[in-house]
Amino acid sequence: MPSEVMHDSPLEFMQEAANSGKCVAQSVIPNDDGTYWVACSCDQWEFEAPSREEGLDAARRHTGHLN
Ligand SMILES: [Zn+2]
Repeated sequence: MPSEVMHDSPLEFMQEAANSGKCVAQSVIPNDDGTYWVACSCDQWEFEAPSREEGLDAARRHTGHLN
């Protein structure tokens, strides 16, 4: 069966990054209800955002790119 759908999953990378315990990768995952779930590779931080942009903003704040 041909597989035309590439599952673009960052999970393996995320898990590898999570093992480091550092904030090296953040993921923004759309929820069914239109909100976005943001998680960090440090495994210590999660955030539910009303929009993708706010999720990315929160991720930047978490990692200290914006203070
Ligand atoms: Zn983090």
